[in-house]
Amino acid sequence: MNVDPLRWLDERAADRTRAGLRRQLRARVPGEALIDLASNDYLGLSRHPAVAAGAVEAVRKWGTGSTGSRLVTGTTADHEQLETELAEFVGAEAGLVFSSGYAANLGVVTALAGREALVVSDAGSHASLVDACRLSRARVVVTPHRDVDAVDRALAQRTEERALVLTDSVFSADGDLAPLDALHRVTRANGAVLIVDEAHGIGVRGDGGRGLVQEVGLAGEPDLVITATLSKALATQGGAVLASERVRAHLIDAARTFIFDTGLAPAAVGAALAALRLLRAEPEMAGRVLARAGEIAAVAGVAQPESAVVSVVLGEPQVAYDAAQACRARGLSVGCFRPPSVPEGTSRLRLTARADLTDSEMEQITAVLGDVLAATRVRHAPESNGREVRA
Ligand code: PMP
Repeated sequence: MNVDPLRWLDERAADRTRAGLRRQLRARVPGEALIDLASNDYLGLSRHPAVAAGAVEAVRKWGTGSTGSRLVTGTTADHEQLETELAEFVGAEAGLVFSSGYAANLGVVTALAGREALVVSDAGSHASLVDACRLSRARVVVTPHRDVDAVDRALAQRTEERALVLTDSVFSADGDLAPLDALHRVTRANGAVLIVDEAHGIGVRGDGGRGLVQEVGLAGEPDLVITATLSKALATQGGAVLASERVRAHLIDAARTFIFDTGLAPAAVGAALAALRLLRAEPEMAGRVLARAGEIAAVAGVAQPESAVVSVVLGEPQVAYDAAQACRARGLSVGCFRPPSVPEGTSRLRLTARADLTDSEMEQITAVLGDVLAATRVRHAPESNGREVRA
């Protein structure tokens, strides 16, 4: 038989093209004059001289690679310093740094769950938590988005002794918030552990960007575990679990993405330490992100956001894609989220605010976004072609 075993890839690609779901990599090039409303560089620190200096200094001190897994040669004094400072920042007892937020989520969920546990996860939880559920070997119940009663029922009806509840603090696609206070109450009442992914909360919510857990007064609770990424407000790469000493010690022994992964590169550690120190020195940065997000939402004609994320739902994938292209042609780089990242029929522009957006950038954003969205909404209004435009 002489058949191409990967021919199905071409068919799949053709299906995606027809549905407007083809994804494209777009490399940034030096000197590109685009206003960034697409990245997760919420505090605008990824090009800050002090953050760059932190990375360079760490490379000079430790080298370009961490040289091994954390348990062998991949832990430097700076890794431990970063763990201490991150934990202190969010009000946790201890911290453990991973090579990414994705790895942190996989590591902590698999290490705390297992066949004898129940894992309850919000339907809007990030893909890394979804994958963590799949890897955990636990029974998994996915509850409707932000539905605390459903979490309570799932926990109360369980036969498993152990249970974990998983949620993002700020949901990545819509930018809405988890009802952390109520969730923690039912989690505790049912003898479970709450794991909160603060990827989009740190640097934006809480006093001086200490996160939503801190904002609602749950910092340091022994049955609550925070996961974080260093790749958004902290402007570099890497992840962390921030929890009790007991949990940290268990992860060092049992989290496979900690044990078998090479330690985070020194440059990322140095950059994260510098970014964190800048945020502590200038806590107003967090408020500035929210204020700019509010202004962008007003231009887009959508509800006031609760985070840096402004979500402008446009409906069909092609409509969102075309709107994103139109923004780009006029100097605005915006995110375009389509299924499977978001549910069918809710393709959208995902705009992210930054603390360092200038007034003149805001003027350009107002002009371009206003025009593009007005044109999109006219062209795709329900009466014009039957396609729903939700905004
Ligand atoms: N959790 C959430 C909510 C995220 O948005 C992301 C990044 N997209 C991650 C985890 C993964 O973090 P990292 O990029 O550091 O792997």
